[in-house]
Amino acid sequence: MSGGANRIPETLARRVRLVVLDVDGVLTDAGIYVGTTTSGERVELKRFDIQDGIGIKMLQWAGIEVALVSGRVSEATLLRARELGVMECHQVPNAYKLRVVEDLLERKDVAWEEVAMLADDIPDLAVLRRVGLKAAVANATPPVAALAEWRTTRRGGHGAVREFCEALLEARGELEGVIRRYEEERSR
Ligand SMILES: [Mg+2]
Repeated sequence: MSGGANRIPETLARRVRLVVLDVDGVLTDAGIYVGTTTSGERVELKRFDIQDGIGIKMLQWAGIEVALVSGRVSEATLLRARELGVMECHQVPNAYKLRVVEDLLERKDVAWEEVAMLADDIPDLAVLRRVGLKAAVANATPPVAALAEWRTTRRGGHGAVREFCEALLEARGELEGVIRRYEEERSR
């Protein structure tokens, strides 16, 4: 694993077909910029990490589906999902995430054991408790940290997603191949 002390167990990693990522606090540092335009229209901005985005692409290249599941509704999240080619972007008011993920698993014919989740806070608990690979960011709140089997060394919004993606691919023995193919395609 790059930068981390612990490895994701290979047996857990190899089962994963779907990665569920929380958004606020995982893909971002949990901050939001709230304001209005001069015409009074509400504006909300979030800061996403470009290296995290490449980590998501790496999972997709390895054939692992990525879903964003947020407990808040925000245009910024949808824009970022589109940019990354993440088709499963779910924003659930009041964080009723479980029913959305249950529906996703049914549609994709994926079992709970085949799901990994990277989480940071209590809105993630109901889903995190059920997945096969439970991961938390370095600065996860205590209930999430206690439930997680694996933690990043990096904080949410500051490379935690990239670290998780690389650790997952490394544990599957796929990390080097993904990077090599990427470079080869750009060496022609
Ligand atoms: Mg969160």
